[in-house]
This record gives sequence, structure tokens and C-alpha cells, in this order.
Amino acid sequence: MFGSPTGITKVPLPKGTIYKLPGEGNLVAITVDDGTDESVVAAYAHLAERTGMRLTFFANGNMPSWTKHAPLLRPLVDQGQALICNHTWSHPDLTKLSAEQVADQVTRNETFLKNTYGTLGRPFLRPPFGYRNARLNAQLADLGYPVVTMWEGSFSDSGVLPPEVILDNAKQWIGPQRLVIGHANHPPVIEVMDQIVQVIKDKGLTPVHLGDVYAVS
Ligand SMILES: [Zn+2]
Repeated sequence: MFGSPTGITKVPLPKGTIYKLPGEGNLVAITVDDGTDESVVAAYAHLAERTGMRLTFFANGNMPSWTKHAPLLRPLVDQGQALICNHTWSHPDLTKLSAEQVADQVTRNETFLKNTYGTLGRPFLRPPFGYRNARLNAQLADLGYPVVTMWEGSFSDSGVLPPEVILDNAKQWIGPQRLVIGHANHPPVIEVMDQIVQVIKDKGLTPVHLGDVYAVS
């Protein structure tokens, strides 16, 4: 069972783009995106309950899983074990939208997160597909997201993969100060969630969410 991480000195939120956790250390942040499969969202919540795993979710509010499983997830958010952040309302390529449409995608999801989880998701936003440009970055900063949250390492499970491949990807990418991306989109990851936790333990790492390492108001 993982406990709350101790001895972390939070760093000020940087401006620009983050790909990994700041500084040197033995922390790892697993981030879970999208939520197109309700059973995977529920499984991540149960994993957090039974292992103490800390998770960052990048939720799309249009996916029913975030509403259906709010009773599971909200206590984790309220207790500080999970952080729910903004992945836009319905996962469009933001670089193809007008400024007005971008603002709608961001603020509509904030309204959903506020109503469902009591948080706006700020200051962390991950643009769908990781697609971004200077114009978008500037607008996101204006909307309350000075830092664009990318990743360094992926389970590569936005599409369907066999569980053993997902586990291999986890073994490859989970490492010190890594910011790793997974998806709550397809059930195979459920079969290897406990093994992924074991990978974190075997590597001597402490799982954190983004709010554990960045000073956010
Ligand atoms: Zn996504």
C-alpha cells in the first residue's frame, strides 16, 4: 500500500510545457486520459482504493464514465489522492478550432468538473492528442492554464493493445520523475493494473499526482 508522499518540496508551476516531473528524485506520475470505457475508469478508481496509488486524470466531460463513476472518484479527489484535470469537453484537435470554440471546449469541461468534482481542473490541461501550437498555448494561458501538460512515456493504450504489450510499455517507461500517460479507453489494461503497480514498487518509485509536486493555489 502506498501512503501519501512525504518530504516533497513543491515547485512553482512553470510556464510553457512540461514533459516530466521537476528535478531529480524517485517520483512517478501516472496520468489517465479520456475515459471512453466506463469499466476502465472504475478499475483505476478501485486500484487507487486498494493500493494507495495516486493518479492524475485528464477527463473529457462528455464521456459518461466521469459522471457514472463520480461516486467512486470524488472521495479520492476530496482526500487528495487523485487529481482531476482538464482534457477538454469532447476531445477535439484544438489546433483546428477557432478561439471561441477552444474557449467553449475548455470552459464547458470546467463547468462539468466543477459540478461533478468541485474542481475546475486548472491549472493542468492536456490538449487532446497532444496537438498544440503557439497560438493555442497563449490562449490556454489566458484561460488559466499557463503550463501545457504533455508526457514522457506512454502505455500506448489509446487504441486496443494486448495486456502483455501494455505491461511491457509500462516497464519500459515507468522511471524516476517520469510523467507517463495511459488511457481509460479499453479494458485490457485492467488485467495488468496490479502488475503496473508492482513495476512502480520494484523500481523503488513513489507515485504522485501533479498536485503533489507543483504548488497550485
Ligand atoms: Zn486524450
